[in-house]
Amino acid sequence: MRIYADQNKNELTAVICNQCKKELKVKKGIIKEGCFCGDIRFGYFSRKDGSRHSFDLCEECYDKLIKGFAIPVEEEEVTEFI
Ligand SMILES: [Zn+2]
Repeated sequence: MRIYADQNKNELTAVICNQCKKELKVKKGIIKEGCFCGDIRFGYFSRKDGSRHSFDLCEECYDKLIKGFAIPVEEEEVTEFI
């Protein structure tokens, strides 16, 4: 989950892992460690039509999540980091 300093969500002040409640490092509005940001808007063909879910996972919780996958994540090297 994300905590913002203002109502318009312009200034990010904290990110907390939804799974384990660990507070991730945030400096000047930028997340300074690995974070999985889940954000889904369910549409007409889902059972949650019109609902938006969002959450954040720390890197440890992300690793635990993908460990349970029957098919491993697709992985490739990237040269540009965000
Ligand atoms: Zn976590």
